[in-house]
Amino acid sequence: MLDTVTVLTKGGHVLWSKAYSTITASGQNNPIDSLVRRVLIEELASNPAEGYTKDSYQVKWTFANELGLIFVIVYQKILQLAYIDELLEAFKRLFCSSYEFQLKDATVLHEYSAFEEKFDTLLTALEVEDTQKQKVKAPRRFQDTKAFKNTLAAQSPETSSATSDASSSPTDAKGGASEGDKLDDKLKALGLGRRDGKKASGGRRTPKRGITSASNSNGSLDASPRPELKKAPRTWVGGMASEGSTESLDYSDSKAEDAVMSSQELIGSHMGSRTKEGLYDAAEMDDRASDSEEDGEDTSISAAPTTSRGGLFSFFQNLTAAKTLTREDLDPMMAKMREHMINKNVASDVADHLCQSVTESLTGSKLGKFTSLMKTIKQNLEPSIRKILTPRTSTDLLRDIFSAQNSGRPYTITFVGVNGVGKSTNLSKICFWLLQNNLKVLIAACDTFRSGAVEQLRVHVRNLGAVHPGSTVELFDRGYGKDPAGIAKDAISYAANGGFDVVLIDTAGRMQDNEPLMRALAKLVTTNNPDKIIFVGEALVGNEAVDQLTKFNQALKDFSGVREPRQIDGIVLSKFDTIDDKVGAALSMTYTTGQPILFVGTGQTYTDLRRMNVKSIVNSLLAK
Ligand code: GDP
Repeated sequence: MLDTVTVLTKGGHVLWSKAYSTITASGQNNPIDSLVRRVLIEELASNPAEGYTKDSYQVKWTFANELGLIFVIVYQKILQLAYIDELLEAFKRLFCSSYEFQLKDATVLHEYSAFEEKFDTLLTALEVEDTQKQKVKAPRRFQDTKAFKNTLAAQSPETSSATSDASSSPTDAKGGASEGDKLDDKLKALGLGRRDGKKASGGRRTPKRGITSASNSNGSLDASPRPELKKAPRTWVGGMASEGSTESLDYSDSKAEDAVMSSQELIGSHMGSRTKEGLYDAAEMDDRASDSEEDGEDTSISAAPTTSRGGLFSFFQNLTAAKTLTREDLDPMMAKMREHMINKNVASDVADHLCQSVTESLTGSKLGKFTSLMKTIKQNLEPSIRKILTPRTSTDLLRDIFSAQNSGRPYTITFVGVNGVGKSTNLSKICFWLLQNNLKVLIAACDTFRSGAVEQLRVHVRNLGAVHPGSTVELFDRGYGKDPAGIAKDAISYAANGGFDVVLIDTAGRMQDNEPLMRALAKLVTTNNPDKIIFVGEALVGNEAVDQLTKFNQALKDFSGVREPRQIDGIVLSKFDTIDDKVGAALSMTYTTGQPILFVGTGQTYTDLRRMNVKSIVNSLLAK
């Protein structure tokens, strides 16, 4: 009985792995991590033939140097597994011959999960053979012994390389079959070999980025493509999501392409850095405002009156004389300010509210000579905007997660929002960040509504595993059409039993007016009482932001059936990279919910996740 088998690249990517038991040891105590670090990197003495022992585990490995691969088998050292060396060699041969073309194409990540079936066939055959050998302990005839063969070998130079019983091997007839040839024959006999031997290398090249090279029904290998899991084509048109983009995201759709992405596509740049305590946090988003705006100087101000030709701020410049401000003075200016904010994508209700409160606070106040009214208005607006954007509740998810960990339970986060806003993409980015912090993550596929949603998450889980070898990220899914509340519940119990630290619950995208789906969401929340309900909203959204958030919260309240219903308690602002300085959605969303923006999505790779920079948003909103 094995514990785990793995194929790693020398660069550290896990190409394929199968666990037969859960190895609880993590980090340096994990036998594979330890093998890589102690033996392969630090080159501490260890002989592959003898293997490497880590605590109760025995680790055997072999290289396929020409392909830069390492094949590893881990099992309990108390077990005397006579077939391990043969298994390791056959495992290598089988994998290399099965994925000959993919392994030579290092430009993209390929899919190797179909290998599991082949490996299991091989393992079962060797185990059965081993059991039979053990049973047949009857004394052997001299002709069957190694000594007899050695005698023969000594007599005949032609058979000198044959060192084991290979009477069934056809190559023996010619004499001189190598161990490798015999293994190839054995694989062939198991239906695992190449159909026509070495000629297979001239076979059809598998298309890039697809999932290919499955064995066909009779177990033999050919290069015919199997149904592919594919990634949605990106449908950005000039920075705006095109109509029907959700449809094109359907991973089960035969039109969809590119499920497997290269590591470079998956990881753009660094997400952040480690704190002194060793925690990994996302960096703050770039500051978009110029220095002059940052230090509060308004470059558009001058003492000399100008015409209003230059828009909002030049209009304000006309009012620099000392006077007591009246509503009549302020109303037209505040109308311009409102327009300015709406141009920055602030929802009109929010702009109205802010302008109204500034009007109230400035009416009756004195405006000193040579004091710009524009500057005064900005000075009044700035703290209000800052206050709205500044989180009132903790944004330290890690602290909360560790506290749940200490209580021995998984921390649960539910992602909600309308269709196509980036829920699953940003859930995956958060998962990447959690994996960076060595947390074990279970992703619960609770969008049982949109076809392809589960497959889309499966691709993310596979990609995350590939860019994070050695980490624990799993998908929990129960297919389509089932009750998402029940699936989330089962996922949470599974996570609790399996020692997961975090459960990320993906839910179906829904329009805020879709009552049946909103009821289902409220049920999911009431049933599972997640630690956080995160609303994923697009930075592109204008007035809709308020409507969406208000109605999501209203539905959670109306359909919960409990006296103290849960509400959205955090926001991920997605697609921030597509909006330039039109940062108004950040303000609208925090204003509407009173809840913080936990992260800002800044692109389509797993590292495109940032912390919000309040100062930058304030400056962008007030800049020209
Ligand atoms: P869902 O339906 O809400 O789960 O949305 P998806 O996660 O499938 O995302 C929809 C599209 O938005 C995909 O093409 C994503 O790559 C894209 N997307 C998600 N987040 C971002 C982001 O922060 N920036 C950009 N530019 N695109 C994003």
